[in-house]
Amino acid sequence: MLAVEDLVVRFATARGAVHAVDGVSLALAAGETLGLVGESGCGKSTLGRAILRLIEPSQGHIRLDGTDVTHHSRSALRATRRKVQMVFQDPFASLDPRWTVGELIAEPLHIHGIGTRAARKAKVADILAKVGLPPEAARRYPHQFSGGQRQRIGIARALVLDPEVVVLDEPVSALDVSVQAQILNLLVDLQETLGVAFLFISHDLSVVEYVSDRVAVMYLGRMVEIADRETLFAAPAHPYTRALLDAVPQIGGDGAPRRPPLAGDLPSPYAPPPGCRFHTRCPTAQARCGSDIPVLRTLTGGHQVACHFPLATVPETA
Ligand code: SF4
Ligand code: MG
Repeated sequence: MLAVEDLVVRFATARGAVHAVDGVSLALAAGETLGLVGESGCGKSTLGRAILRLIEPSQGHIRLDGTDVTHHSRSALRATRRKVQMVFQDPFASLDPRWTVGELIAEPLHIHGIGTRAARKAKVADILAKVGLPPEAARRYPHQFSGGQRQRIGIARALVLDPEVVVLDEPVSALDVSVQAQILNLLVDLQETLGVAFLFISHDLSVVEYVSDRVAVMYLGRMVEIADRETLFAAPAHPYTRALLDAVPQIGGDGAPRRPPLAGDLPSPYAPPPGCRFHTRCPTAQARCGSDIPVLRTLTGGHQVACHFPLATVPETA
């Protein structure tokens, strides 16, 4: 339904050009959740914003239901915006605090010219109920709500247009752990009832494991691995994914990571390493890794990996 092909997002900065997203491809099927993980600065938020054209991609394609929307004009983009919505870490950072919650949730309907005033009011009441808020919430202001309730409002605003895809960028990262669980369960329930697809961006692997059908891993602007959740967590093929998983403290253990965390710092995005970008930190790097760029290729079961020497021993199909 949503397909991203060879997407590049380049930023010109005082220190030179940065390829924040460098040739990324992924596909999202109707009603599924694709988790997108990676360290801070790996380009996952930039990718999410580029899919909504909040940032203009420099190269590549974004297809929605088969239509190439990469270069749609502002007016054509409105139709896309109905189908693809976004939930931010802090949904109110950019919204007018003088608006009531009802006005904020109804705004997307208003922008798209949907329904009469009465119909929009009914739709707001309906979506508030779906996200677990009482009808009177519509008359109150964002600051009168807790962080978790505010995120419910942010989700309501994203869902009010009945989108096909919602990009969620660290939607629970600012919340207490107990509240995180409530919001994650709400998202899982909403997906079941509404059939919407989620691109769920998070640095937190346990959160991603909880919500995702499939998981995609980025490193320094490139996609390094995509697999179904079970495969990715049980048998990752990319050494970077392995290192990310090893860095997660084990619940019930002594709280220590299984292996020492990754050696070395994340290289500068201004001067990414040649060849495999992970070769400066990879425990199993070999000579060719420093010069040959590994492309994303498919192992069995749709498992994709960009590594010359993948860890999994499954045979290649393509
Ligand atoms: Fe490590 Fe080489 Fe694979 Fe890169 S291509 S992850 S350096 S083994
Ligand atoms: Mg981010």
